[in-house]
Order: sequence, then C-alpha cells, then structure tokens
Amino acid sequence: MDYRAYGKTGKKVSAIGFGGLRFPKEDYQSGNYAYSVRMIHRAHELGVNYFDTAPDYCDEHSEDIYGQAFQTMDRSTFYVSTKCGLWNAKDGDQARKILERSLTKMGLEKIDFFHIWAIKTMEDYAAYMKKGGIYDGIQKAKEEGLVDHICFSTHLNGDDIAKVAAEGVFEGVTLGYNAVNFAYRRKGVEACAKAGMGIVTMNPLGGGIIPQHPARFSFIRRNEEEPIAVSALKFILAQPEITVALVGMRSLENVEESVLAGENIVPAGPELLRAMSRHLTQELDALCTGCSYCDECPVDIRIPKLMDAYNEFVLTGGDTQAVKERLKVQWSMDTSTAARCVACGKCETLCTQKLPIIDRLKQIAMM
Ligand code: SF4
Ligand code: SF4
Repeated sequence: MDYRAYGKTGKKVSAIGFGGLRFPKEDYQSGNYAYSVRMIHRAHELGVNYFDTAPDYCDEHSEDIYGQAFQTMDRSTFYVSTKCGLWNAKDGDQARKILERSLTKMGLEKIDFFHIWAIKTMEDYAAYMKKGGIYDGIQKAKEEGLVDHICFSTHLNGDDIAKVAAEGVFEGVTLGYNAVNFAYRRKGVEACAKAGMGIVTMNPLGGGIIPQHPARFSFIRRNEEEPIAVSALKFILAQPEITVALVGMRSLENVEESVLAGENIVPAGPELLRAMSRHLTQELDALCTGCSYCDECPVDIRIPKLMDAYNEFVLTGGDTQAVKERLKVQWSMDTSTAARCVACGKCETLCTQKLPIIDRLKQIAMM
C-alpha cells in the first residue's frame, strides 16, 4: 500500500481509503454487523488506515458498524473521518452534539478528520461559517482535543473550491473526482494542493458508469490486464496532488480488489493528464459530469440525477431501458419526473457542459 502525507497535518494515510456508505444493507438492517466488521478488519490488515463515515450513512448504521470494528483495532494504527451537515445541525451547539454522538457510536476519544459536509454552493459555505455556526462549534471542539483537523467535503465547481481553499480555514477536502468529471474538477484539486491541503476523492467509478462501459473509458487504462475499476482508481492516484481515493466498499471481494490499486502506482505527468482531458472533452463531451451546477430548478427537478441517467443513453448509443434502469436503481426515480419541466431555461444557462437539458428531459419523459 502506498502511503501519502495528508497536507501539512503530519499524518500519513493510505492511498486507498475505506468509504463506509455501502455496507451490505440486508446485514445492517437486521442488526448483523459481522460481515461488515470483517470487511473493515480485512482492509486494515491489507494496509488501509483511512476510514470515512458520516452520521447518516447506511440509515445511521455506518458509525455503529465502525464502532464494533474499532473495538479490536489498535487506535494508533488508523484515522477516522466523519461529518456534520447543515441538515444535521443548525448551530455550533448542535454540531457539537452530532460530534459527541459520532464519538460515542464509534467508541473514540477524538475524530482525526472532521468534515463540514457537502458544501454545494457559496451560500452553504457562508451558512457553515456564520458566527456561532457549525464551523465555530467544531473549532471549539478542536481546541478541546475532540477533533484533530477540520476539513470540508464539496460539490462546488473548481473556481469556487479554489475560493474556499484560499480562505485557509480547512486542512483538507473530500470531493467527487473520477474519469468522468476530472477535467472539470482539476482546477479545484490544483488549488487545494497549492493551499497545502490533503485531498481525498470519492466516487472513483463515476457512480458505476465507468465499470459499466469499460470500452468507452479504456483511455484511462495503463495496463490492459487489470480490471477497469482498478484502472479507475489508479488513474486518480497517479495524480500527485491526490492523497486518498475513497472506495465505498460493498464486499470482501471489493476490499481485496480495491486495495490492489493502492500499489505500484506510476505517476501521471501533466502531458498525459492533458491528453486524457482532451480525449474526455472531445470524445465524451456529451456526458453530464455530475457537477450539480444546474441544480436550481424552480419546479424542483433533480436535474443532475436525470442527466446522470441520460449518460447511459449517450454511452450505450440509445438504450432507453438502460436510462430507466439507472434512474430506478441508482436514484429511486422514474421517468415521469422529467415531464414536470416548464422549459424556463435556467438550468441550461447554468450548465457547465452546455448540455441541451430541456431536450433531454423531453426525451426521458417519453421513454
Ligand atoms: S428548464 Fe426545466 S429543468 Fe431546467 S430549470 Fe427550468 S423547469 Fe427546471
Ligand atoms: S447537467 Fe450540466 S450543470 Fe448539471 S450536473 Fe450535468 S454537467 Fe453539471
């Protein structure tokens, strides 16, 4: 396993991180954590030392599962990340309670990397940072030794990530980064690296799009023998600014395979990255990158989710069943939502890819 310095914190973390949001549902719903605990222990045995969770993950079971696993793990050999969102707490006092609940559930005395969760807009950022707000509450907890480092997770675009990084209030960032959206997000990654922050990436497989279409994403492969999921992780880790690639682990097999990507990583120079970015923007420019910039619909249509499903239409050359399947399985939605569009055009103005969203929604509604 490759280990990397997490920004300026002095901590060295494993290149592959364990994402705790996809533990097997049938197990945790019945209160049986044994298999999930084995997954955590196996990852730890294989060298993973960065474990990420959040209060809401797995219907609020994720932190409990970790709590059970951590009972038999040497605390000096791993780091834990958890989060608090605007929907969890409305002020610093409530954020403190959320933090204390996480500590209790996981049987820990402190959180190594505490995240201000899912900053989607600069208004969100302002709400987190207001006097007496969540950031203030967590900063106070940090002064008392309950938190080591305050970080943020985000869906902002590259320019806004750069603005937040420049404020100098966070030591690390967790952001969605993969072969579908990397060209669009790269600017934010570079800004965070320049600010000396640790950079943790999530959603390495583009929500499953990459392994479902290996031929279309063959440009990220540098070894024909390895599974595309491993290539997708190595593609991220080959970029020297990236500290950790988080994988939402689903099974023991998933743990074994993912960990392979944290070894023998060949760095990618700027030339190679530019070539990949060119390929992505020229060959796959009709894809929605999931940046969420358009997500301000007056009739509350969740456009990024519908456009994510439409990606299947692009990648399969017109398979409507694949779009419906993606909506159902990934987003628990059906095509009827798309018919609510009143064609105001707001989303098309905001779209970073300049996609014909209205036309796509019309097509989805007819599927
Ligand atoms: S064009 Fe349709 S989807 Fe886009 S913002 Fe307006 S109503 Fe929403
Ligand atoms: S439709 Fe455009 S703005 Fe919306 S998530 Fe996709 S790429 Fe981003």
